[in-house]
Amino acid sequence: MSSRSPRRFLAKELSTAAAAYQAAVVIPHCAECARPCCRLDVLVLELEWKQLKALWQLDESRSAFDRRLSSGRGPVEIRAGNGLYYAHRKVCPAYDESCGSCRVYGQEHKPAGCSDFPVYEDGGSVIADLRCEAVDLEGLTAWLASAVGPEFRFEQSPDREFPFLVTLSVQRVSGAAGGNRRLR
Ligand code: SF4
Ligand code: SF4
Repeated sequence: MSSRSPRRFLAKELSTAAAAYQAAVVIPHCAECARPCCRLDVLVLELEWKQLKALWQLDESRSAFDRRLSSGRGPVEIRAGNGLYYAHRKVCPAYDESCGSCRVYGQEHKPAGCSDFPVYEDGGSVIADLRCEAVDLEGLTAWLASAVGPEFRFEQSPDREFPFLVTLSVQRVSGAAGGNRRLR
């Protein structure tokens, strides 16, 4: 499929709209959030080695860290698997609790999952994670609808296993003109 294909173009518009929603609605709420995700009491943070090394300020080699971890002498909040590392049940060391902000915001060491949470585009749909108290599903749907135009509508589908994950899939409104400004 060409990079100029309608589906990819729409996906890009949704990705841009999701990022704008995060910037305008979610991030301003973080400083007053009652259950900050960065405490990792609910969420699991997925990290590559270089991110783990930077955030946890490790000065040993990866193999030395892995040996330490597997012998039970590593950080209790870290698990290894599939070539990655997973942090859970302890506050992220990059989280500044005094002001509710991330110390590596905008930096290369910030894990991709942090930027995606709680709203991101995936495969032409938008995923919303309702574990973030700043996300209002109706407000988000209206935000996305305004970004893609009246010829589209959104369907909300909670995940069967994890209902706090809701997929907003975009559908062309029945009878809408095929030749619209976005899909040409
Ligand atoms: S859960 Fe949402 S509002 Fe709270 S800190 Fe995380 S992104 Fe911000
Ligand atoms: S890297 Fe930043 S955004 Fe990600 S969990 Fe840590 S403090 Fe939060």
